[in-house]
Amino acid sequence: MDIQQHILKLRDELNQHNYNYYVLDQPTISDYDFDIKLKELQVLEDQHPEFADEHSPTKRVGGTITKNFETVAHEHRMYSLDNSYSKEDVLDWEARVRKAIDGDVQFVCELKYDGASISLTYENGTLLKAVTRGDGVQGDDVTANIRTIRSVPLRLKGDYPSKFDIRGEIVLPFEGFNKMNEERIEIGEEPYRNPRNTASGSLKLQDSAEVAKRPLECLLYNIVGNNLNINTQFESLEKARAWGFKVPKAAIVANSIDEVFEFIDYWNIHRHNLPYETDGVVVKINDLHQQDELGYTAKSPRWAVAYKFKAEQVSTRLNEITYQVGRTGAITPVANLEPVELAGTTVKRASLHNADQIARLDIREGDEVFVEKGGEIIPKIIAVDFSKRPADSQPTEYIKNCPECGTALVRNEGEVLHYCPNYNGCQPQIIGRIQHFISRKAMDIEGLGGETVALLVKEGLIHDYSDLYMLTKDQVIGLERMAEKSSDNLINGIEASKQIPFERVLYAIGIRYVGETVAKKLANHYKSIDNLQQATLIDLVTVDEIGMRIAESVVDFFNSEQNQTIINRLRSFDVQLEICAEKLANQTNKLEGQAFVVSGVFESVSRDELKKLIEDNGGRVASSISSKTNYVIAGDNMGPSKRTKAEQLQIPIISEYDFMSLLK
Ligand code: ZN
Repeated sequence: MDIQQHILKLRDELNQHNYNYYVLDQPTISDYDFDIKLKELQVLEDQHPEFADEHSPTKRVGGTITKNFETVAHEHRMYSLDNSYSKEDVLDWEARVRKAIDGDVQFVCELKYDGASISLTYENGTLLKAVTRGDGVQGDDVTANIRTIRSVPLRLKGDYPSKFDIRGEIVLPFEGFNKMNEERIEIGEEPYRNPRNTASGSLKLQDSAEVAKRPLECLLYNIVGNNLNINTQFESLEKARAWGFKVPKAAIVANSIDEVFEFIDYWNIHRHNLPYETDGVVVKINDLHQQDELGYTAKSPRWAVAYKFKAEQVSTRLNEITYQVGRTGAITPVANLEPVELAGTTVKRASLHNADQIARLDIREGDEVFVEKGGEIIPKIIAVDFSKRPADSQPTEYIKNCPECGTALVRNEGEVLHYCPNYNGCQPQIIGRIQHFISRKAMDIEGLGGETVALLVKEGLIHDYSDLYMLTKDQVIGLERMAEKSSDNLINGIEASKQIPFERVLYAIGIRYVGETVAKKLANHYKSIDNLQQATLIDLVTVDEIGMRIAESVVDFFNSEQNQTIINRLRSFDVQLEICAEKLANQTNKLEGQAFVVSGVFESVSRDELKKLIEDNGGRVASSISSKTNYVIAGDNMGPSKRTKAEQLQIPIISEYDFMSLLK
């Protein structure tokens, strides 16, 4: 096969896999195998720029920087829908429709998604441009960003019209939204408020590679254009689906307004089980000729109406505002509420976010407040019921000192949060840092939990995470809930954490803004903590994806004498402060005469590094498993056929860490 054909075949295959995964939710290939194929295509495209194509699946990772988004006119205006908040409104709408139309009327009911509206233009089956709603007449060209959303087809399938627009919403599923927030909280940043705003903010990010990292989805449901050869709205949904678009499945044809209400009642309850935020039902006239007959008002179509679900909202009394201090010293105000039922759960607390939010809503202790539950885990306060405010109510004065240690709080310019600057002496910060250190993605210390950490600090047994390695069984056995066995487990767990690879140690030590990904980048670039702490600001920002903010934070961290002492102590306890591969390379001929097969993706080393380690230590790397293989080193996503074969031949399957200990 010639190169061009091979490239085209890979693109087709990858497009199909993207479609299976992101549109159908039915992947037929492992993520690992997908990545391998994608890399293969990337290499071929790099070698043969003459076959470049902006619709290639390799373009999904983004990389285009847009400084200013160009304003473009919509060829067909994007109308907004009339909202109705009651069934009477819907009945009134039906009556108006029936007056204007002779004969039978069918309706289509669809869910209304809470996201950012988008209009995609396709020409000859490829994505030409993507434009935000804007004012309905013109919007911003965000094509480079939209291209990175995997459920947006770059090439269509089947029998599509030569040119048309398709409209829908860009949404952020709850799961992805919550995950993004966990990561932000992890590195000490303020969480995003809600999926809708985060989705619409994503469309206007300048770096499309950033957009590519966000788990956005594109739901489509409205085709517009000329000579489309489509007769009904429902038919258009089915066709769009067949061309490769992600069209929500929850849509029906209703033959009467009663059937419309059944749909509304059903989804009013079941919408809480959907992966995205929905805020209502859209009812449209099914027949497109009837739609034409009805036409438009100045703002909206007469042939459609949006029924808005009532937000899940209750009112309750705000008893007290308290303040929490996080691991980074960030202060979070919390509303303690009179317990109340909301969307099936009892709500006792709500987030108040920050001082600005309290001032903006003029929230005070003793107020009756409206609480709403959206996509967030913690409910939020929407407004105060001023009519019920007690006469002696006093405006909320935001605290000026840390509720835990009394230190005066600081608020840096441009930041919304207050911080307690007492890094070394504020107990929740100390406890929080140690809890972060032992957490699963960090040092993963078995037998030690967050509560025990708090207890150890309060008892004065540890003052920072390096003290963990000095703990003795005698010291812990007296503590609450600590018997013989659990004390042993704790001490053993701490000992075992000395094998945790450097990149995770780097994440564990809790440098602000250094999350898992950044830690991995820094570890791979600098190889050891000694190299990293000698790096200057300028060195750091030249590392891929490391910005000024992270660089400053790293330099600050290592400038602290206390941190230096802690790092030196970790070193004296043999915690991994450099990349294993560096330490173990060229050491031995321990593996002489042994054959290894390497399969899967590894945590602490790349496949190539692993192979080099084997060879540097006298071993041999084989590409396939045979009776002559001594070990199979398995990472994540090891091929199932390899696993079966190894099991059949009874060859030991070991992890990368088992392998490292073979070398020791
Ligand atoms: Zn404090």
